[in-house]
Amino acid sequence: MSRTIVLASNNAGKLKEFSQMLEPIGFTVHPQGKFNVPEAEEPHPTFIENALTKARHASRLTGLPALADDSGICANALGGAPGVWSARFAGEPKSDQRNNEKLVADLAAHADKSAYYYCVLVMLRHADDPQPLIAEGRWDGEIIATPRGTGGFGYDPYFWLPAFGKTSAELSAEEKNRLSHRGLALRILVEKLR
Ligand code: IMP
Repeated sequence: MSRTIVLASNNAGKLKEFSQMLEPIGFTVHPQGKFNVPEAEEPHPTFIENALTKARHASRLTGLPALADDSGICANALGGAPGVWSARFAGEPKSDQRNNEKLVADLAAHADKSAYYYCVLVMLRHADDPQPLIAEGRWDGEIIATPRGTGGFGYDPYFWLPAFGKTSAELSAEEKNRLSHRGLALRILVEKLR
């Protein structure tokens, strides 16, 4: 029997990734837009609070189990910034190009260019579930000043992976899923769900 989960996002790429991993273990994933759930606010300073808020909102409005993710990039020399503000690091309207320019500029005075992508996934069985399933993933790299590659999105052309001699924008989609913060968190969640 397939169990229905609502995904607290309308991002088609995320829906595909999550469905590919969760369908084989008996879950059907529907985006929250299908149930007319509006986007939740993400006002919190931590990834986990934002993910929990999004999952609870989707579960409350649909009466279904809900899955939410929150992710971003954290530079060590900047105390973890951009962090939860990654999507709008350079302000509104959100722009990957301006976000990347700001990150490179903020790191210019620092010798330490290390950074990591972080992703947290939260699954609630119901809106008041006291024991959410939580899975985290982290992917370490360095921020470079000159972009490379055309794949991925967001900060990928500036996210250098020394072990591969590539940025994450130079990886194939399959390689990125295998290595990334989101792929890792998703595999951990699937293990927990089993
Ligand atoms: P969200 O969790 O999808 O809202 O992602 C937050 C922001 O973090 C995105 O808008 C990107 O700026 C950044 N981000 C998260 N994951 C990635 C990634 O895999 N590549 C590039 N940027 C990412």
